[in-house]
Amino acid sequence: MIVEMRTGAAKAEVDGVVQRAKSLGLDVQLNQGTDKTVVAILGSNTGQLSTDIFAVLPGVENVTRIMKPYKLASREFKAKDSIVSVNGVEIGGRRIVVMAGPCAVESENQLMEAARIVKESGARVLRGGAFKPRTSPFSFQGLRKAGLELLKGASERFGLPVVSEVVDPSDVSLISKYVDILQVGSRNMQNFALLTKISKSKSPVVLKRGYSCTVTEWLTAADYLLAGGNSQVILCERGIRTFEDSIRFSLDISSIPVIKKFSHLPVIVDPSHAAGHFSLVPALAKAAVAGGADGLLIEVHPNPKEALVDGLQSLTPSDFARLMRELRSIAKSVGRDI
Ligand code: PEP
Ligand code: MN
Repeated sequence: MIVEMRTGAAKAEVDGVVQRAKSLGLDVQLNQGTDKTVVAILGSNTGQLSTDIFAVLPGVENVTRIMKPYKLASREFKAKDSIVSVNGVEIGGRRIVVMAGPCAVESENQLMEAARIVKESGARVLRGGAFKPRTSPFSFQGLRKAGLELLKGASERFGLPVVSEVVDPSDVSLISKYVDILQVGSRNMQNFALLTKISKSKSPVVLKRGYSCTVTEWLTAADYLLAGGNSQVILCERGIRTFEDSIRFSLDISSIPVIKKFSHLPVIVDPSHAAGHFSLVPALAKAAVAGGADGLLIEVHPNPKEALVDGLQSLTPSDFARLMRELRSIAKSVGRDI
């Protein structure tokens, strides 16, 4: 933290800042300019401290945080890219991983058909929600345990690891028994009780970006998972809320290189929930691959017209197959495989 003293601040006021820092076990460095003193507050835990601790002291004009609030997710903590390994599928390596499937598990037929289709086109992880966090309590909430059983069955039959969302901390152990990757949805990115519970599990986790959260808040949420001992964290950009209303959420493509710059964690992109419409999904998916994403999470339904959830943004089997073909050349052009 940098504490800027007011012009002409008394020596006693500067000493007050220094003493407060020392009482907290922090180090200080003084920069005494001709008319202003600046106090640098140094220490490994300054990211956890409120700037108010110094801002309230007499003679202080401004306090700026120089340390990032996240630590374990940062490149400073780990310079090398992390690779998350799920039953032989590596997320964060050279090969881009496509995770695809229906928004929600609806029936055995629907899920098996979806798994067959996505596998045939080259997806390497099957997605499907059994517990659905719906905006309205009257909307379909998912098949719950029956959905998990279907996911396990599809996983075994098609040899695809499965990703599925956890909404309630008390369901973490149950869901971990059935799926390979736990998903934290956008609405739960800052559900710290849920993150703490998942941090104690050994399951890899996809942490979706809260649609009103900054990259810094997202990485700080990732620290909850990492701090509890779960190092298998995959970030997922899925669009944020902006003033733009021609699309469901604005897909923040820039977060990919920003994450790559500041964090070692792999980042995938969900173009489906950003787009809200199937016609926009391919362009966003291609932009994500070109932008350096380590993977994609795409909604595909055997028959989107009959989908119980998110049919409008789900790709048909043939649209998905075409997109996968098109993605191959884009991946190649940025030095990746798919
Ligand atoms: C989902 O992937 O099923 C989902 C609900 O997405 P999000 O949390 O990004 O809205
Ligand atoms: Mn969905």
